[in-house]
Amino acid sequence: MKTSTPVREIAVIPPQIELRPTKNGYIGIFARYDFKKGTDIYSHTFRAVPEDAEIILVTPLGEVPIDIKVHTVRRADGMRDYFGFDSFMNHSCDANTISMMYPGDAEKMRYYTHAAKDIAAGDEITCNYLLFDWDCDGHSFDCLCGASGCFGHIGGFTDLSFDRQLAFADGLDDPTFKRFVAGARDQLNKTKLPDSVIRRMAALGL
Ligand SMILES: [Zn+2]
Repeated sequence: MKTSTPVREIAVIPPQIELRPTKNGYIGIFARYDFKKGTDIYSHTFRAVPEDAEIILVTPLGEVPIDIKVHTVRRADGMRDYFGFDSFMNHSCDANTISMMYPGDAEKMRYYTHAAKDIAAGDEITCNYLLFDWDCDGHSFDCLCGASGCFGHIGGFTDLSFDRQLAFADGLDDPTFKRFVAGARDQLNKTKLPDSVIRRMAALGL
């Protein structure tokens, strides 16, 4: 019998952003200021939690029980990466942010949400799940983002063709990049790779 008590934690939300309901009735993250393409909007840390973790996040919109399968990302070791308030960032195939990790960040489990295009105050901040979520375990879905390059079914990076994976490689976070290289080694050996991919493989010792 399970006797654990849910962990209740307060969402610490950077002043650059706010949580608001989206027009679809979900919670989303919205910019409170203008941000120029190429700038970092905020930094945040994440942590690994077990699949049966019970977390209640106290937010300005009320107390939200976190659905672990929906709001976390399954890692290679079976644990789930949990992102606090950032769990509410919605997907877009034409996302306006990417997640950046700078040297030293990996050990601190810290990332920066970086503007991939100009963002205006009031815009919803989105990311492309395919760049960091290997298989979208527990939350694959059919995308309705309406972008011209919409991927349609979002089943994680592993669901893409090799050519599309390679085209995406520069935007991947390190753990996803490493899994990509490990799983596609034969195809990578047979393919003329962009210099950026070769440099990154060398930098990561792959
Ligand atoms: Zn889409």
